[in-house]
Amino acid sequence: MSLRIVVCVKYVPDATGDRHFAEDLTVDRDDVDGLLSELDEYAVEQALQIKEAADDAEITVLTVGPEDASDALRKALSMGADKGVHVEDDDLHGTDALGTSLVLAKAIEHTGYDLVVCGMASTDGTMGVLPALLAERLGVPQVTQLSEVSVEGGPNGTVKGRRDGDTASEQLEASLPAVISVTDQSGEARYPSFKGIMAAKKKPVEELDLEDLEIEADEVGLEGAWTKVDEAAERPARTAGTVVKDEGEGAKQLAEFLAGQKFI
Ligand SMILES: Cc1cc2nc3c(=O)[nH]c(=O)nc-3n(C[C@H](O)[C@H](O)[C@H](O)COP(=O)(O)OP(=O)(O)OC[C@H]3O[C@@H](n4cnc5c(N)ncnc54)[C@H](O)[C@@H]3O)c2cc1C
Repeated sequence: MSLRIVVCVKYVPDATGDRHFAEDLTVDRDDVDGLLSELDEYAVEQALQIKEAADDAEITVLTVGPEDASDALRKALSMGADKGVHVEDDDLHGTDALGTSLVLAKAIEHTGYDLVVCGMASTDGTMGVLPALLAERLGVPQVTQLSEVSVEGGPNGTVKGRRDGDTASEQLEASLPAVISVTDQSGEARYPSFKGIMAAKKKPVEELDLEDLEIEADEVGLEGAWTKVDEAAERPARTAGTVVKDEGEGAKQLAEFLAGQKFI
C-alpha cells in the first residue's frame, strides 16, 4: 500500500516587498507579490526524502489561500511533489488559525492521508500552532518541531524524529496516521530542476471550495474568527541613533547612555 503524505504549504506575502494591512486590518493578500513560505520548503524536502526512502509513497501538497496561492503549489510540485490541492473561496477572507485548521483538516480528510507534514511556522503569521490544531481536529498524534525525520513500516508504521531543545534532544515516535512539523534545521531544501519545473506544469491540482468540504461560511472568515485585530499602526521609521565619541570619557558616556535606556 502506498504511503500517502500530505504537505501543508502556505502562500505568503514576499517579505522583501512592501507589506500592509487592508482597511479591515487583515493582511493585504491581493495587492502584493507572494511566494511559498520559505519554512514550508523544508517540509516539502522532508516529504521528498521520506518518499525516496519508502517502497511506495505519494506526496500531495495542500494550500488554503487566494488564487495566486497556486504559485506555492507549483513551486512544491516542481521540487518533486506528485499532486496539489488548492482550497479557495471568497468567504475565507479574514479566517484565523482555528478556521484555517478546520479547512485544512477537512481537505486532508477529503484527500486521504497517512502522514501530514507542516513547516515549523509560516513566515507571515508565525504562530506555529497549525500542526497542533490539525492533529487535534484529525484525532491523531502530533510530533512537532523535528530536525530529523524517518518513517518505518509504511502506512501502518511509525514516524520517528529528533526534537532539539536548548539543553537536550528528544527522540520521539508516533504511530501513523500522524501530523509532524519540521524545522529549518532539518536539511537544506532542494532547488527545482528545469525538468522539475516543466513536469510541474502537467501535474494535477484539485480545486476545492467551502461547499466541497461541507464547511458553512460562518464557520470561517472574519465572522467565524475567534481572534480579532483591534488596531494596527505602521512601525515608526528608524532614527539615526546616538554616536558616542571617545574623547577620554567614552566608557562613562556609554554606560550612562545604556543606564538611561534601562539596559544596565
Ligand atoms: C485568504 C486568507 C485570508 C486570511 N485572513 C486572515 C486574517 O484576517 N486574520 C488571521 O488571523 N488569519 C487570516 N488568515 C489565516 C492566516 O493567514 C493563517 O493561515 C492562519 O492564521 C495560521 O497562522 P500562521 O500562518 O501563523 O500558521 P502557523 O501555525 O505558523 O503555520 C504552521 C504551518 O501550518 C501550515 N499552514 C499554515 N497556514 C496554511 C495555509 N493557509 N495553507 C496551507 N498550510 C498552512 C504550514 O505548513 C505552516 O508552516 C487568512 C488565510 C487566508 C487563506
